[in-house]
Amino acid sequence: MSLQQFQMCIGGEWTNAISGNTFDSLNPATGEAWAQFPDASAEDVNRAVEAADTAFRSAEWRSLTPTARGKLLRKLGDLIAANTETLAQLESTDNGKLIRETRGQVSYLPEFFYYTAGLADKIEGETLPLDKQDMLAYTIREPLGVVAAIIPWNSPLYLTAIKVAPALAAGNTIVLKPSEHASATLIELVKLAEQAGIPKGVINVVTGYGPSTGAALTSHPKVRKIAFTGGAATARHVIRSSAENFAKLSLELGGKSPQIVFPDADLDSAVNGIVAGIFAASGQSCVAGSRLLVHKDVYEQVINALVERASRIKIGNPQADESEMGPMATAQQLAVVESFVERAQAEGARLRLGGKRPDVDQGWYYEPTIFECSSNADYLMQEEVFGPVAAVIPFETEEEALAMANDSQYGLAAGIWTRDIARAHRVARDVHSGIIWVNTYRVVSAMGSIGGFKSSGYGRESGIDSVLEYTERKTVWINLSSEPMADPFVMR
Ligand code: NAD
Repeated sequence: MSLQQFQMCIGGEWTNAISGNTFDSLNPATGEAWAQFPDASAEDVNRAVEAADTAFRSAEWRSLTPTARGKLLRKLGDLIAANTETLAQLESTDNGKLIRETRGQVSYLPEFFYYTAGLADKIEGETLPLDKQDMLAYTIREPLGVVAAIIPWNSPLYLTAIKVAPALAAGNTIVLKPSEHASATLIELVKLAEQAGIPKGVINVVTGYGPSTGAALTSHPKVRKIAFTGGAATARHVIRSSAENFAKLSLELGGKSPQIVFPDADLDSAVNGIVAGIFAASGQSCVAGSRLLVHKDVYEQVINALVERASRIKIGNPQADESEMGPMATAQQLAVVESFVERAQAEGARLRLGGKRPDVDQGWYYEPTIFECSSNADYLMQEEVFGPVAAVIPFETEEEALAMANDSQYGLAAGIWTRDIARAHRVARDVHSGIIWVNTYRVVSAMGSIGGFKSSGYGRESGIDSVLEYTERKTVWINLSSEPMADPFVMR
């Protein structure tokens, strides 16, 4: 079977790598190669950054008013809406995500563009209430320049939209580096941006591996901001790269998010929320609710209901509408899941469900897996699996639940299940996480910000402040006095 061929977009030109090198992308549902992408070298990356820098300085981009930039983003949103099915099918083929999930994500994508388009002409400066009457000072928010966006494989379009939209709204240009495991939809997005009339060079895409293409991009001297989503170990490399160029950084990293079930919760709803948190997207979600803290009075009831519901999950072809769990996105990720399960068993965690691959001929599938743990210090309670593996532990008091929830290197999201309104607010206040969901889980909106505490990263994406992450504040001082400058050796 011949492989589908993709090219990179640099300065508006569709191109292969200078070396001619390529790499294959594998379909996780079959394990077979389906597409081929250019393997960009440092030289290709340099071309892309130069193109983005030229576009940033160009009269064509600079002369667009913020309102005009907003209109371009709105048009891109419309084009995404018109191509939802194609994009959803492509992403499902590339990363093995359920078609119902990719359809859901892609059909909400235009909202991020519409919302952020509206922010483009609301990036305002301030006048300062100075303590010097002979001076006027005001601030201007300016774009930074070239943004490097590094994207993981699990939700490429969504994680790109929340970077591209604010970066362009604020007047920057961008070079996208998709994951080597899921590059296809970002290339299609750039084609739609072209159709929307976004000038050449404003959005570029280079494909390739992290340590080569990614590192060349993040350390490039003309990159002014790095918007990174991925794992903590990779983030450390990216931080080191940014020591070369002093680019601003935002880091959206992993999590080990707790779901806390109190005894007064609607337990049916909580069990559904737990299933959504850990088994949707086969657990390959940064906000996966992978640590379940359940009050001892309802512990058996919750765990039995969870085992019962999870055992009915339909594992299968991600492109089939009836499937509820697809494969792991890569063979490596499947091996990671298997090694976590082995270690949990060796350390004495009690397996209640799954713990193995299902009986299928092909594809990187893994069964929904539930372990009971005896200590929050267990490896499985502390480390991100990024797969369909839940670790459950009982608690007795709210204080104990809070202590366990916060005893983690991560702080991305948390779920709280209770009907007690005072407790809901108290626990929401005291859990150290960037996102708290009460009696629900995995809800996103263009108006809501995403980002973590501690090893889950820093900076926020999406929401009203997202555009400000792509600006630099400048302060302008005007001398209002008609008197000559005073003593030049004294700071005013
Ligand atoms: P990863 O860290 O392996 O890769 C992410 C991206 O970084 C890829 O494009 C990769 O090619 C690139 N990369 C790798 N090495 C690099 C280097 N030295 N320099 C520059 N770039 C490099 O992550 P992944 O396996 O693709 O995705 C899974 C991880 O992403 C999980 O930890 C998950 O929690 C996290 N994630 C976080 C969020 C969030 O919003 N917080 C969302 C999705 C995924």
